[in-house]
Amino acid sequence: MANTRMITPEELAAQRPFTARIHDYYAYLLTGRSPLAYVRTYGCQQNVSDSEKLKGMLAEMGFGFTETPDEADLILFNTCAVREHAEDRVFGNVGALKNLKRRKPHLMIVLCGCMVQQEHIAEKFYKSYPFVNLICGTHVLYRFPELLCGVIEEQKRKVAIPTEDGNIAEGIPVVRDGTFKAWLPIMNGCNNFCTYCIVPYVRGRERSRDPEAVLKEARGLVAQGYKEITLLGQNVNSYGKGEAHGVDFPELLRRINAIEGDFLIRFMTSHPKDATKELFDTIASCEKVSRHFHLPFQSGSNRILKEMNRRYTRESYLELIRYARSVVPDISFTSDVIVGFPGETREDFEETLSLIEEVGYVSLFTFIYSPREGTPAAVMPDPVSAEEKVAWFREMTALQETLSAKRTAAMVGKTMKALIETEAGAFLEARLPDNVIVRVEGDPSLIGRHAMVTVTEARSWILIGKIESVL
Ligand code: SF4
Repeated sequence: MANTRMITPEELAAQRPFTARIHDYYAYLLTGRSPLAYVRTYGCQQNVSDSEKLKGMLAEMGFGFTETPDEADLILFNTCAVREHAEDRVFGNVGALKNLKRRKPHLMIVLCGCMVQQEHIAEKFYKSYPFVNLICGTHVLYRFPELLCGVIEEQKRKVAIPTEDGNIAEGIPVVRDGTFKAWLPIMNGCNNFCTYCIVPYVRGRERSRDPEAVLKEARGLVAQGYKEITLLGQNVNSYGKGEAHGVDFPELLRRINAIEGDFLIRFMTSHPKDATKELFDTIASCEKVSRHFHLPFQSGSNRILKEMNRRYTRESYLELIRYARSVVPDISFTSDVIVGFPGETREDFEETLSLIEEVGYVSLFTFIYSPREGTPAAVMPDPVSAEEKVAWFREMTALQETLSAKRTAAMVGKTMKALIETEAGAFLEARLPDNVIVRVEGDPSLIGRHAMVTVTEARSWILIGKIESVL
């Protein structure tokens, strides 16, 4: 059984007095105006979703939000640990707050998320950045009011990175960033221990939300007019595993699909070892589930997949893709790929290239391997030079660009349902079912609406289209 611990309503209610005390503190401190928070999120959508909860809690404390750090009374960085480069950026961005804090002593600086869940990082921030007030990890998000109140009332810096693994907290308030696209976390944590990945160490073991809680939230989103709901989890395909409720991911999709309304269901991220044929049969039978599937393959070489502890093979991955296309002919795929995993040879890399050609992805999220302290891969021999890895990386992105260009050229003349998402200069950008962006002319009042769009032209980086009708 999964080691899930539900945070009880009483435990959540116990946070309310802290929220109220913070509210009163700022009312006294900033007579005549509400405090402002600047919240910056790094990394994946799971972090974006966590930030929406942190904003929800801040809003209950009386905070408004600003996009300008200089205006803020509280700055919160929700950090990511997946790549070294992202961590370096956080160190730089936090360091840059030193002067602001000097000018504005009441400024509260908070760091949370996966990066600071790592003890050596939390320690570095605590020792080297004395102007940071609160460092809190991923397992204590629901206790944010209590922790912040402690910093304020005790006038003491705090670090809270316990490994209270297995928590699920329902009922934390949310301030959503989007008005027509919503993130809906269905699970948290990961059991897979891919050898390059830090996530299982900083997010803990897999635990799934109760299906009724997920459905209630989904119904609420549809009732509020959300047009797209993205189900989130580190490995959504293993939703429900080990939980007493017995609802697995295909069944959850079927239940959400049955909610009345005009909306699209997306989900991320999937793991090829847990994406079953039943899942693709379910997609085929559920008209609201997106035909775009993000299925990270990471490497086309069986030897490297084994070293990565991915627990599928190139052959089983390709068989899954073939099956998916046989039951969902209009399905499209995107993927994540790592170049330069320790010990990868030119031959291994060429197997990755050939897999890319064989599948024909819409697009790829490509990364050069980044060692993460504490993971098995970080201590594996890595003889390939950084320059060679960069050259392989360029070769791979060039291949994908050629394949993408062919694919987008074939889309010219097709009419598809698209969600109009944003303004881009004098144009609007709409997202097609396979996650590709098409630029159209239209009034900004159409943002958030579905439209039938005909693709008229494929330029190197963007599709051009025209709106046929607004739905
Ligand atoms: S499946 Fe692998 S890569 Fe994905 S979060 Fe889990 S350990 Fe990391």
